[in-house]
Amino acid sequence: MHVYSIPMNVRFRGITERSGVLVEGPAGWGEFCPFVEYDDEECVPWLRCALEAADEGWPEPKRDKVPVNCTVPVVSPERAHEIVKSSGCGTAKVKVAESTVEEDCERLEAVRDALGPQGHVRIDANMLWDVETAVKAIKAMDRAAGGLQYVEQPCRTLDELAQVRRRTTVLIAADESIRKAEDPVKVAVAGAADIAVIKVAPLGGVRRALEIAEACGLPCVVSSALETSVGMAAGIALAAALPELDYACGLATLSMFQGDVTSAPLRPENGYLAVPRTAPEPDLIAEHEIDDPRWIDRLNRVRASL
Ligand SMILES: [Mg+2]
Repeated sequence: MHVYSIPMNVRFRGITERSGVLVEGPAGWGEFCPFVEYDDEECVPWLRCALEAADEGWPEPKRDKVPVNCTVPVVSPERAHEIVKSSGCGTAKVKVAESTVEEDCERLEAVRDALGPQGHVRIDANMLWDVETAVKAIKAMDRAAGGLQYVEQPCRTLDELAQVRRRTTVLIAADESIRKAEDPVKVAVAGAADIAVIKVAPLGGVRRALEIAEACGLPCVVSSALETSVGMAAGIALAAALPELDYACGLATLSMFQGDVTSAPLRPENGYLAVPRTAPEPDLIAEHEIDDPRWIDRLNRVRASL
């Protein structure tokens, strides 16, 4: 087991440094990297995901590359334009609701300008709006973006998502509603969302996420939880194993990292990530390794509860 810490280029989810544990097993490498504020119980699926990668490996891929979106954090319109242009991606996901509607709209205009009319713009509000605010903001942002592909988790509850969905023509995607659900297989997203965002680590691995995708019966968008190339490979394995993949995945997040544990990081080319798995390299693991017994304690406590 190796504990790593890698600085990030941008502040994201309030963090500037990403850390976790890399574990090696008979089938390869896995990554255990639940966010620091998560309690042990919430970390259980993250460990299952890491152990699946290390001990079992993943189902056979159905495709050899997956389309991905670039992510635009809360930055100036000029910077947003640059991020989209330099990504080569045809789909951009823009974080909204952390600044004013006007600022978000200016950023969305810049993103549309960078993508051109054929590109897809989606927004993520991370549960920050109430129903009334969401309905108004989505309308304004749909106009500013020249059409939105979908809005991800505008409000907190499924009931609120359903209300917003009835009052807007923009498609609604559920993210936190699925991954934070007590039982993601049973969560009734029907009526509340048109699209399901699935993340392999919080859902407990590739096989479990495939079951959840099937159970919810909606088109899926596979997203990362800000992993290194090791954990990202599990997300790509999931995207590659889904029976249908209609939307670009949120798996191009390695560009937010200032380093990686492989010299061939999983970065998109022309908007696609290749499926083959890359192994971490000993010198690069050593470069990012830190001595932090709290991570090993955490992993062992969670393992004891499996
Ligand atoms: Mg989200």
